[in-house]
Amino acid sequence: MAHTLLVTGGAGFIGSAVVREMLSASAWRVVNVDKLTYSGNPASLADVADNPRYNFIQADIADAAAMRAAFEIFEPDAVMHLAAESHVDRSIDSPAAFLETNVHGTFVLLEEARRYWKSLTASGSPKARDFRFHHISTDEVFGDLSGGQGFFTEETPYAPSSPYSASKAASDHLVRAWQRTYGLPTLVTNCSNNYGPRQFPEKLIPLTILNALAGRELPVYGDGGQIRDWLHVEDHVRALLLVLARGCVGETYAVGGHCEKRNIDVVRAICELLEEMAPQKPAGVSRYTDLICFVRDRPGHDSRYAIDASKIATELGWRPRESFATGLRKTVCWYLDNEAWWRPVLDGSYRCERLGTRV
Ligand code: NAD
Repeated sequence: MAHTLLVTGGAGFIGSAVVREMLSASAWRVVNVDKLTYSGNPASLADVADNPRYNFIQADIADAAAMRAAFEIFEPDAVMHLAAESHVDRSIDSPAAFLETNVHGTFVLLEEARRYWKSLTASGSPKARDFRFHHISTDEVFGDLSGGQGFFTEETPYAPSSPYSASKAASDHLVRAWQRTYGLPTLVTNCSNNYGPRQFPEKLIPLTILNALAGRELPVYGDGGQIRDWLHVEDHVRALLLVLARGCVGETYAVGGHCEKRNIDVVRAICELLEEMAPQKPAGVSRYTDLICFVRDRPGHDSRYAIDASKIATELGWRPRESFATGLRKTVCWYLDNEAWWRPVLDGSYRCERLGTRV
């Protein structure tokens, strides 16, 4: 019988890339549990929707009965937990949903995973030994690496700055505690900023591309000097699958692209690519960079994140394949070629279209 991966948040940016890669690179069955919040979009999985190894459950991870049923019906060999509220600005405006999903939802999922794993153990199922609960987290839990030196490692103390990163830090701690206290076989990865196709256009890179194409302002926080370590989403997914297959139970892996860029330089790089790839600009725009405008900085804004990914490189042989130059070019190209994906997101119609998707 084929192995089964239960993915939470598989209709989101990274989760949909995980689902796609798992279906194409393995013989595993994939069960996607997603509430379909504003950032979940079934159109991101249109190419796999009819795959007989793909199953979709529209449910909230904080719904214990629904999670219990998902475990009982599909008997997964592993869980990859990506479902989260993920946007820092939204967490500043409305933190409650972040605590509800990222903290309470993770707690509910851990409890249901533990209950299921215990039942596997009690029944002597061979699945019990290999079962894994892989929690996908962020480098933002480590806080601010100001001063331009040093890197986050697996040993860096937690010091989250935003309601988002605090809620992710809390979920990491819960996962660690469920491993230490109950022996649940967990894995944790903390990754840097991702970019690539199908990212909700509230995040810097898709926002900049789509605003520029529409001739709208390109807002940059403060002086744009904040540094992020960028990683193409497909490199992140390769790291996740590797950790799931070969990572050591109870361990944490820091994942990053060794690719530090200031936000303003990212925005300028996108403008340059658009000059080349979309030279027909909206009326009144002579250069895309003219659209850049500096706006009041985000409260509590961390100035620098950077990952030392030597543990995953040395122990599991992972290295990113995309440089920022190749990855950004592909990403801009994807948004230029896929208006059918982003137009319904921008006009809101994707939320109506997906009402028929409950399975
Ligand atoms: P996203 O916002 O694009 O997707 C989140 C998905 O989770 C959506 O499909 C949404 O519908 C679903 N979801 C939200 N609340 C839910 C709930 N209560 N129950 C079930 N489903 C729910 O996020 P993303 O950028 O793909 O991030 C995925 C994970 O990776 C998150 O845990 C995030 O913290 C982590 N991460 C993201 C980045 C990044 O740069 N995007 C970097 C490192 C780690």
